[in-house]
Amino acid sequence: MASYQRILLKLSGEALASDSKNIDSEMLKKVVNVVQSASELGVEIAIVIGGGNIYRGANLTSSGMNKITGDHIGMLATVMNALAISDAFDSHKIPSIVMSGFSIGGGVCDSFDYKKADKALSEGKIVIFSAGTGSPCFTTDTAAALRAIEIGADIVFKATKVDGIYSSDPELDSSAIKFDSLSFDTAIKKNLKIMDTSAFALCKENNIKICVFSMFEDNYTLANILNGHSIGTIVSEKGD
Ligand code: UDP
Repeated sequence: MASYQRILLKLSGEALASDSKNIDSEMLKKVVNVVQSASELGVEIAIVIGGGNIYRGANLTSSGMNKITGDHIGMLATVMNALAISDAFDSHKIPSIVMSGFSIGGGVCDSFDYKKADKALSEGKIVIFSAGTGSPCFTTDTAAALRAIEIGADIVFKATKVDGIYSSDPELDSSAIKFDSLSFDTAIKKNLKIMDTSAFALCKENNIKICVFSMFEDNYTLANILNGHSIGTIVSEKGD
């Protein structure tokens, strides 16, 4: 039996991108494969998708745009990504729904509703949360922590390019050491740039673990962790 019943998977927008495309169908297929192999274990899966492959508020602001408008554009980018992921699930006959943190008309997607999300997850649908928290000045990491609390997820899986949390950037420092586990306090104190401090703080206050892992190392990495293999880095209250 899988070790968790309900999980929140945080994907950065970059997970959908290739060198030539913001949203690449091959990357969407990889996301489907990873999620499908995890869902076949009977685990309920919600996803919070970022938007950094299309727009980040900070990049727009640095070119002179109003901060709030930049963040609105960033949040809309996450909606585009969510629709693309949902479409990829549709083509593999995997039921999913998209919810947005702010209301969007025209039948594009549902507005966030934690009871509706809870019901959909219980029915085996993949729920894709978009538009972050629905408010500017936050990140989709914080949205992941928030949505995890709202749906009663057991853990947040934060997908990254590396296979866990290291003492320094392993791509720049060959002596970097990987942590198997860490406490929230250590993660916050060391200012590890894996998730922002507000996301760590929300998870800590609500006793939700975070697992940092490499999404595309193998289609089965997420499924293997769910099956109890010690892969990635677990951040928890006690850190063991
Ligand atoms: N954003 C926001 N409020 C939120 C979440 C996101 O304003 O609650 C905006 C912000 O501008 C951010 C952008 O949406 O830069 C895309 O999200 P993020 O940078 O977290 O995406 P990721 O890096 O995960 O792809």
